Amino acid sequence: MKCPECGKEMRNGYLFCSKDGAFSFANEVPGVFTDAKKADGFVKITEVKPSHRTNIAASICENCKTVILKY
Ligand SMILES: [Zn+2]
Repeated sequence: MKCPECGKEMRNGYLFCSKDGAFSFANEVPGVFTDAKKADGFVKITEVKPSHRTNIAASICENCKTVILKY
C-alpha cells in the first residue's frame, strides 16, 4: 500500500513486542518467550498466547516513520 503521509510504497511486515517490552517492526517475527503487557488504555489487538512474541501484520514507511496496522 502507499503511505498516506508521503505517498511512497510501504513495506509489509509485523509489529511485535520485544523481550524488553518495546514494540518493534520486522519482516519476520523472531520466536521467543514474552510476557503479556497490561496498561491503562490497553487495547487487545492480538490474543495472548504463550511461547511467542505478540505480533500483528503491518505496513511501514521508513521515509516518514509511519506504521499502519489493522486489528
Ligand atoms: Zn511515508
